[in-house]
Amino acid sequence: MKRILLEILLVLGIGGAGYYGWSQSKAFQGADGQLQALTEQVAASEEKLKDAEKAQAEQDEKLKALAPKAQQFDAVQGAFSGGQVLGDLEALYAKQKSLSSERQLGLGVVRLLTKGPQDEGALQAFQKTLEQLDWKNNQKIICATQNALAVAGKEVKVLAECNTPPPLPVPAAAAAADKAAGDKAEKKGGHGGHAHWDYEGEMGPEHWGKEFPTCAKGKAQAPLNIAGPLERSQSVLTPGYKSGALEVTHNGHTIQVKGTAESKLRVDSKPYELVQFHFHKPSEEQIDGKPMAMVIHFVHKSEEGNLVVLGVLVKEGNENPGIQTIWQHMPTEPGTQLAEGVRFNPGNLLPREKDFWSYEGSLTTPPCTEGVRFFILKTPINMSRAQIAQFPFKKNARPVQPLNGRMIQSN
Ligand SMILES: [Zn+2]
Repeated sequence: MKRILLEILLVLGIGGAGYYGWSQSKAFQGADGQLQALTEQVAASEEKLKDAEKAQAEQDEKLKALAPKAQQFDAVQGAFSGGQVLGDLEALYAKQKSLSSERQLGLGVVRLLTKGPQDEGALQAFQKTLEQLDWKNNQKIICATQNALAVAGKEVKVLAECNTPPPLPVPAAAAAADKAAGDKAEKKGGHGGHAHWDYEGEMGPEHWGKEFPTCAKGKAQAPLNIAGPLERSQSVLTPGYKSGALEVTHNGHTIQVKGTAESKLRVDSKPYELVQFHFHKPSEEQIDGKPMAMVIHFVHKSEEGNLVVLGVLVKEGNENPGIQTIWQHMPTEPGTQLAEGVRFNPGNLLPREKDFWSYEGSLTTPPCTEGVRFFILKTPINMSRAQIAQFPFKKNARPVQPLNGRMIQSN
């Protein structure tokens, strides 16, 4: 009986992850289409889960209840988040010699539901599952899940194989297209790992467009030179950052610190979660044609997947204690370091004055996806000369981009 229950949960898990993908990517046109898509996905998995056949009706009931509303999905996810389902499933499967690809996928999905897309272990497990799976039979589910992960800012290697991804909103749709283009380029170039780009030489910014078309063809690219005339902004910015575990990544292009779901930036009372923040040297933004010593980009994402970047400029001055903490735990070569027992509040890196310039822009690194709102605080923070020198990249700033008719705003 327990086993049957677990199988049901597994199918629900697959459907749930698919639903999570749909809902994250806002791919659905309405509850009907959504329910139909979900039912199809679950039906496909179901055929292979003979043990769960008896519970079909019960499961359909649950699924119908699950589909229409996000909060009902949250309830299912809540059931997973305790870890009981995952533990039971792992224990059950540990006894079996080999797992069918569907069960491996299910296990990966349950891990993901239990630990969330931000959990690297869960992501790796899911990735591993995808690699082993004859996933063409499960393409819809996988593509939906991948889209959810992509929206959550996670790279999933086989994303390019999702030939018919559901329509995504801007900027998520553009991001997926860019990512697919990038993945294709990566395959063509045969680099393995990530698509190759750099800040100078043959892979420098002027060549990014070859592999990442938006970088060259986009009409609302960032960064910008901030100069008049300026338009008046009515937006109200309210950062509400909280302390959390400190996790610092050296990704080959910058130093990046992981954000937490609890840390939010409100723009006109609309909440955006802090996903990560990272550094550029010198600042990518220029003020009247001049860069500052550095800039910190705080990257936020709304529930719908829209991105807002809060830029904090850095000038040379007194030593910055917050930066000191980050630099102490910074990996010196590509990799991630979790600072054991260290709590860090990103709010410590914000100036007291929150006056800003604002504009519509893009990611400033490939794939240069547009639809990113920038708020650049006018008041810089200090870092000492030694701290600036300690940043392990000599130069990692994209040149300023043409305005193309955009207006920069100021509050
Ligand atoms: Zn940046």
